Amino acid sequence: MTGSSTDHMLKVTWSSSTGWGVPEIVPYAPLPLDPAATVLHYANECFEGMKAYRSKSTGKIRIFRPNLNAKRLNMSADRIALPSFDNDEFIALMRAYVAVEERWLAWSGNATFTVGDDNDFLYLRPMIIGTTPRLGLARPNDAMFLIIASKLPSWHSRPLRLLASSPAETVRAWPGGFGYAKVGANYGPTLQYQTHAASLGYDQVLWLFDAERRYVTEAGGANFFVVWRTDDAAVEFVTAPLELGTVLDGVTRRSVIELVRERMPDIRVTERQFSVDEIAAAVDSHRIIEAFACGTAYFIAPVAGINISGQEIPIPLKVEGKSGEYARTIRRWLEEIMYGETDHAWGVTV
Ligand code: PLP
Repeated sequence: MTGSSTDHMLKVTWSSSTGWGVPEIVPYAPLPLDPAATVLHYANECFEGMKAYRSKSTGKIRIFRPNLNAKRLNMSADRIALPSFDNDEFIALMRAYVAVEERWLAWSGNATFTVGDDNDFLYLRPMIIGTTPRLGLARPNDAMFLIIASKLPSWHSRPLRLLASSPAETVRAWPGGFGYAKVGANYGPTLQYQTHAASLGYDQVLWLFDAERRYVTEAGGANFFVVWRTDDAAVEFVTAPLELGTVLDGVTRRSVIELVRERMPDIRVTERQFSVDEIAAAVDSHRIIEAFACGTAYFIAPVAGINISGQEIPIPLKVEGKSGEYARTIRRWLEEIMYGETDHAWGVTV
């Protein structure tokens, strides 16, 4: 994912004695930061990833379920010893910031536009960093909340090829760790293996843990779902559970689960531990239907194949080169809400 930053940033500072200060929206610029700031030594940093969406038919801008990002930011901040941020204030600041940067979201005024066309969005990156200059190991007394935005190219949902990690060599998260938090410390250590996967032609790493059972957790910066037929011929969506703390509680993951439960009542949605061997067995026995990764950046991205211990496991794509049927349907439902083509409580107007 590459992109260019927009021209403003939002900034608020915090100190343990006075709390959060007054937010400012200022021109985008490098930060003055003491080289001893705790963020640079002890990784006191957490962030969020969101998008602002412009409807090309109405011109209105929406953000999607920002209350979930606000809660998750606070959960991450707590895990990495940073101060919490008021949820309503978070949403108010996101809206104020997007309103300033709205010129980065083109509006063609094209009333014949339909969902799924080349919609326009702006990627938003709120974050908190610890700024106290101190080499001693202690909770920072100073912090900064920032929002920046970036114009990312549209992700056209090209089917992904995944390289399953070898848990004996590298793991992303483990029970009792902090894989559930959106802290920078979760991402830096994945880049070495991600670079290895990319050098072999894979788009993302499918992160596994537990050497023996090879449980599936996530696909790079996205949650992972597999859809298969069970022994009693039901269609089942399966994704890794949250309880072990090894996966992020993705806003997209949660929305997929809720929409499928609400709108496809005949389909089972199961959050449980499952292994790559179960996926291979479902492919072998032709019970596999589709698999997809989901997250704010990649949205709903179909998975075309997984390399498991050197063996290529192909996942069927119903329409040649495109998403499976379920992924496409869910993608359309979500786009309708995100772009405001449907009125829904999850779409918050800026
Ligand atoms: N898992 C990880 C590790 C991520 O970084 C992300 C992206 O934020 C996700 C899952 C998907 O989360 P969301 O749907 O909230 O973007």
